Amino acid sequence: MKLKTYHGSTLAEALAQVKRDLGSDAVILHTRSYRRGGVLGFGTKPRVEITASSEVNVAPKLKPRRAAPPANHALQRAYGSPSARTAAATPTATLTPPRQPGPVTVATASPAVDDTQLADEIAALKKMVQRVVRSSDRDRADLPQPLFELYLSLLDNEVSEELAEDVIAQVRRAADGSCDAKQLKKLAADSIAKMIPTGGVEAIKPRADGRPHKLALIGPTGVGKTTTLAKLAADCKLRHKLNVALVTIDTYRIAAVEQLRTYAQIIGVPLHVANSPMDMRTIVEKCAGYDVLLIDTAGRSQRDGEKLGELRAYLDAADPDEVHLVLASNARHDVMLEAAERFAAIGTDRIIFTKLDEAVSFGVLLNVARKVNKRLSFVTTGQEVPRDIEPGCSKRLARLIMGESLK
Ligand code: GDP
Repeated sequence: MKLKTYHGSTLAEALAQVKRDLGSDAVILHTRSYRRGGVLGFGTKPRVEITASSEVNVAPKLKPRRAAPPANHALQRAYGSPSARTAAATPTATLTPPRQPGPVTVATASPAVDDTQLADEIAALKKMVQRVVRSSDRDRADLPQPLFELYLSLLDNEVSEELAEDVIAQVRRAADGSCDAKQLKKLAADSIAKMIPTGGVEAIKPRADGRPHKLALIGPTGVGKTTTLAKLAADCKLRHKLNVALVTIDTYRIAAVEQLRTYAQIIGVPLHVANSPMDMRTIVEKCAGYDVLLIDTAGRSQRDGEKLGELRAYLDAADPDEVHLVLASNARHDVMLEAAERFAAIGTDRIIFTKLDEAVSFGVLLNVARKVNKRLSFVTTGQEVPRDIEPGCSKRLARLIMGESLK
């Protein structure tokens, strides 16, 4: 089976590629829109992604529960092939259909596909999905159109099906029969916000016992730990007038130490480099008079078990009050989860999402936050130090997931 993904600046452009490559009998499995390019969130361009296959027989796991609903005539018109009709009439047992609605063949043999026709096709596809969902789940049997649209928009934004279902169920209860789209959207944002544990910002202040508050950042290389640490250091020092020292355990990536040294000089805080866990212990003791100790761990690859063990030894020696796991929002869902899983062995108290300005979709962050189940302490929204950092706010993230723009 040939399964491929195509990208274009319009649906027509991406679809034309599908047809060119796989022919008119190609099966569209998934479409999504996203934005890319631009600077600091400005000037991004819309893009469309289509996942298609050359074969019809790629239907999702089907667990028929009940008789097939009658074939939809509009769909038959739009997707005329017998295979498409068969697929459209096949009931599924879970809420997978909106992601994998069953194969639908590309509509026409003509190379000229206009936008109106494509819009019609998508509308027909949505209706088909709706019917399949309705026919497959008793709870959703009467899902009103606005709620279904909301459900699809959550999936479009890569919220997992499970969480999207939870949100819709909560919205449905709270809406109490109302179908006002704006109100439903607000209820959805409220429900999503409740799913994201936040907080932890208040923690960066001197401890009551006079010892320094120690905060360490861990996470894969390149996610933005050093940059985030510099942002935090600047905030503590310049805004909160705290006495801050930086520590890095990096002996492996010299450039990373130099990067942090430059930040330390600009912000006006000392930087200590720990070359061994023992060294770390000594540095921490020496820094007993500071309000805040910020510990960077750049350069440790989470793929390397030995290095993770080393990292753990350094952290044991530092004995931080908080360990924040840093994950980049521009990474793929599975990559973020894999990183979270690997670093979980070290033990994390909080989560930081960096690079929100480069996030392809915000729904993934909800999925990851739920999975990691640690409070979201900060998000970062650009490369600029110290400007581009915000306390983790569940309502803000929920609004982003519901389509609000970042800036
Ligand atoms: P580390 O290896 O985890 O310490 O990552 P760095 O702090 O060295 O950052 C890697 C790259 O990501 C650098 O080019 C940073 O400027 C960039 N970066 C960090 N935070 C952000 C952010 O919030 N948005 C964007 N777009 N880039 C960021």
